[in-house]
Amino acid sequence: MAILEVKNLTKIYGNDENKVVALDHVSFTIEKGEFIAIVGSSGSGKSTLLHLIGGVDKPTSGEVIVNGQNVYKKNENELAIFRRREVGLIYQFYNLIPILTVEENMTLPVLLDNKQVNQEKLDELLRILDLKSREKHLPRELSGGQQQRVSIGRALMNAPSLVLADEPTGNLDSKNSKEIIDLLKLTQKRYKQTLIMITHDENIAMQADRIIVIEDGKIKKDEVLRK
Ligand code: ADP
Ligand code: ADP
Repeated sequence: MAILEVKNLTKIYGNDENKVVALDHVSFTIEKGEFIAIVGSSGSGKSTLLHLIGGVDKPTSGEVIVNGQNVYKKNENELAIFRRREVGLIYQFYNLIPILTVEENMTLPVLLDNKQVNQEKLDELLRILDLKSREKHLPRELSGGQQQRVSIGRALMNAPSLVLADEPTGNLDSKNSKEIIDLLKLTQKRYKQTLIMITHDENIAMQADRIIVIEDGKIKKDEVLRK
């Protein structure tokens, strides 16, 4: 079953005198459980695409359908619920809340959703992400690799169907990058998730099931590496 359908997606920033076509009629389908790498030069439209899939921006035209839900037919309230439950976002610079501990950062999306924290899931993620001894620490007391592991935990706590990562290793050295990619692959299998990752690193892209190349807001190449 298709977990994601992107149909004729177009995003234009700015006004008539000063307009940027960031995405130009992009269409593709992603099956449940796939690991997709999105590559392309800086400014080609990758982040715009990821944000539109995650419901954090609005397209100029076209549709995004996640798990059968037409994302931009939702009202603001439904969209907020969609963002909390259906997608987990991971950023290059972690975007952790500095005054909250590791545990609090990870459980925040669940609490914002007025749900009980699943203590077993939290413990399991802390163990998998090797953060058990860091539970009560603040982000500034952690290394970059540890902070990114917290942000993976936060993205996964609500069991989203789509995990969206925007250059998750862009700020890490090669050892930490490998660790983060291995963890994303491991949790993707374990929780049967679909992983869409923007990366500049060819070695990382080659580990994906499929590579989508974006250039000037269009799909330049869409290649399946493994089934
Ligand atoms: P990438 O992630 O591939 O680097 P982006 O999606 O960030 O590309 O940007 C695509 C194009 O849209 C670029 O020309 C960028 O400058 C422009 N752009 C992105 N966000 C905005 C914005 N909020 N306002 C205006 N232009 C933007
Ligand atoms: P990346 O290449 O990692 O996407 P960018 O520097 O392109 O990072 O974008 C960082 C942020 O700035 C994004 O939220 C994007 O929407 C915004 N942005 C990018 N280009 C522009 C622009 N020309 N005008 C306004 N905002 C922009």
